Amino acid sequence: MLAETKFAAEPLASPALGEPYLLTPGPLTTAYSVKEAMLRDWGSWDGDFRAMTSDMRRRLLALTGDRNDEFDCVPMQGSGSFCVEAMLGSFVPRDGKVLVLANGAYGLRAAQTMQYLGRAYTLIDKGDYLPPRGDEVAAALAADPDITHVIAIHCETSSGILNPVAEIAQAVHAKGRKLLVDSMSAFGAVALDVNDIRYEAMVSSANKCIEGVPGFGFIIARKSELEAAKGRSHSLSLDVHAQWAHLNKTGQWRYTPPTHVVAAFLEALRQHEAEGGVAGRGARYTRNRDVMVAGMRDLGFETLLGDRWLSPIIVTFFNPAHASFAFDRFYDLMKDKGFIIYPGKLTAVDSFRVGCIGQMDEHVMRRVVEAAAFSLHEMGVDTAAPPAEALAERAKLAA
Ligand SMILES: *Cc1c(COP(=O)(O)O)cnc(C)c1O
Repeated sequence: MLAETKFAAEPLASPALGEPYLLTPGPLTTAYSVKEAMLRDWGSWDGDFRAMTSDMRRRLLALTGDRNDEFDCVPMQGSGSFCVEAMLGSFVPRDGKVLVLANGAYGLRAAQTMQYLGRAYTLIDKGDYLPPRGDEVAAALAADPDITHVIAIHCETSSGILNPVAEIAQAVHAKGRKLLVDSMSAFGAVALDVNDIRYEAMVSSANKCIEGVPGFGFIIARKSELEAAKGRSHSLSLDVHAQWAHLNKTGQWRYTPPTHVVAAFLEALRQHEAEGGVAGRGARYTRNRDVMVAGMRDLGFETLLGDRWLSPIIVTFFNPAHASFAFDRFYDLMKDKGFIIYPGKLTAVDSFRVGCIGQMDEHVMRRVVEAAAFSLHEMGVDTAAPPAEALAERAKLAA
């Protein structure tokens, strides 16, 4: 069956620059106009750049559904992890205690950040991909009155699971604690509407679902929390309150802003709006995922997660059991055809990931599947079915 698959002979590459598509969760494939927006210089102090920063903050806030002007947006230099650290160090008091909900690398990184901060935390570690559930969170909060905050990962990018953040938010709010959300890889494509989900602060970054280039992240938080954060941060440069106060007073970032990245991000935000905002972007990514997953399943590949837990961001597939399959070779063959895929992060079984986000549509995803079929054929792998252990591992996650 694989041998019959038709495949275009010429390399498949991004139409703009002949570069490969990045099927990765950020940095990702950006629009030509986003790259082009960087082709000039701005003075950080100048009014033009200050207007760009203020426009960006306003547009980001609008994505949260904040109608009562209760939230504000604070951009922060650095990659996403810098913003997670800034959020934890600024909103958790020095005598506070955090419940970290982990089911993958980013949850564990939040716990590691707490260690560096030297502030108290406790961890629910669900392993590689099992979701933390509302009832477990409620039980943990009931058992430990010292816990003041909970941090949840919205889409845990290491497996691609969409964690049940609404259920978690309800449990946290019911117990009178505060929720911080790492929505790095979901914000802009999966709703995190403040009218539906109660949280105090969230973080995301420029190079994920808004489709900008890397260089900064942003914290969106209740103004009451921003005010309370004064003097709490462990770090001069990662002090969210200080950045917020300076922005509001002067219109400027405290230290050198990534001017070109902000210009690119504004163009990306305009495109996000033109596509229909969070709903429109989410619909395209969902279609990308559905087309790609259906095609990969036709080749015999199996997803780690059942359909209920699959995010529209990135999908984990088990490596085929076939003796001739080797991930490194598969990676190179896919790259030759214009597609950069991503290694997996599971500890128990071998896997790889394919991202659904960035400047790509379902037509590109069909070519991804064709490229996978042809790459398997070149390796002499006639079925992509995973080993029995992989399916046994998956059976741990009830539908
Ligand atoms: C990308 C990402 C981060 C931040 O990673 P950086 O490499 O620091 O940008 C944090 N959390 C999640 C869930 C992510 O997907």
